[in-house]
Amino acid sequence: MADKTIFHCDCNSFYASVEETFHPQYRSVPMAIAGDPNARHGIILAKNELAKKYKVKTAETVGQARKKCPSLVLCPPRHKIYGEFCERVNTVYAEYTDCVERFGIDESFLDMSIFAGEEEKYAAELRRRIAQEIGITISVGVSWNKIFAKLGSDYKKPDATTLITKANYKEIVFPLPVGDLFGVGKKTAEKLAEIGVRTIEQLAAVECDYLTGHFGKLGEVLYRNANGLGDDTVAKIGDGEAAKSVGNGMTFKRNLETLAEIRIGTNALADSVAARLRRHNVKCTTVQVTIKDTSLQSIQRQKGVSPTFLATEIAKSAIEVIELTWKIGKPIRMLTITASNLIPADQVIQQLSLFETTDTAKREKQERLEQAVDRIHSKFGEKSIRRGAGNKELGIE
Ligand SMILES: [Mg+2]
Repeated sequence: MADKTIFHCDCNSFYASVEETFHPQYRSVPMAIAGDPNARHGIILAKNELAKKYKVKTAETVGQARKKCPSLVLCPPRHKIYGEFCERVNTVYAEYTDCVERFGIDESFLDMSIFAGEEEKYAAELRRRIAQEIGITISVGVSWNKIFAKLGSDYKKPDATTLITKANYKEIVFPLPVGDLFGVGKKTAEKLAEIGVRTIEQLAAVECDYLTGHFGKLGEVLYRNANGLGDDTVAKIGDGEAAKSVGNGMTFKRNLETLAEIRIGTNALADSVAARLRRHNVKCTTVQVTIKDTSLQSIQRQKGVSPTFLATEIAKSAIEVIELTWKIGKPIRMLTITASNLIPADQVIQQLSLFETTDTAKREKQERLEQAVDRIHSKFGEKSIRRGAGNKELGIE
């Protein structure tokens, strides 16, 4: 079969670039987005180009960043707006191809095979349009497989195109450290170094059997990825839509009226949504709440969240949305919680653990706790243990 033409489009310094469209004055100063800008221990979530020059790094604390760059301007994150920009960017991509697969909030794969031979032209056009119409820049990697396309968008940025072809990949890809290859985290890179593999070229030269002997299934993936035999299937828009969100709704025996009742309902729904996310090994970055009143009129509101599959965090965000949009006391007939904008949990570990706004140790403890509950459920059934109180009157056991 003929090679495909895959684009990987990556929004450069996404959160910071979005904020700059609202505050153009930030373009000329070092600026960063921080979970809690006023706390020294707040975490840097993203930074603009000027802040990069001061070596401000994602995931370090506000205190550490300020030491390197005392004039650093800090903004709190606005996840809802980032979600809206993500939609706008992907709408532009969708004008070119039916195959647009989102990969996190600021990256998408596009199957552009119909434009084979004109890659440079269309990559330039996409970059220009996103810059003019949305006000942010993207870098584009083009190759015959997703792994090299992704590597390409990272190779030269911001606002650049990198073409990785069968004629040049040994020049561009092979000298890079193995850690640049998608799927090779810090631990895998260390293990590879132990067997003398430091560059992608060295990885590509190792026998596949030898790698599976050392790494199991991952070994074969590493072998394929390093040799340009990586996946080249880009999902169609709307494909697997069901898997792109996980929701659960409930009509209660009696309407929910008090905040305490709403909490009970919300906790029960968040529990099942979170358990399903964990089963699929994905985390959500949006929590949506749908409320139906007694006349079955419904409203729907959502909120961007740091990537999570925790019931506690999903319930907390849902309550925040409800308190902002609903007059507590007005009876609720039906409540639905939907977790969407899903990303693979493993990818979160690699790239997005940086977006943590809560204490990492505390969160890991909660993750272990909820995963332990999953194991008890799978062994003894859903009703063997539950988080928080049920309520017979409301129909929640
Ligand atoms: Mg990006």
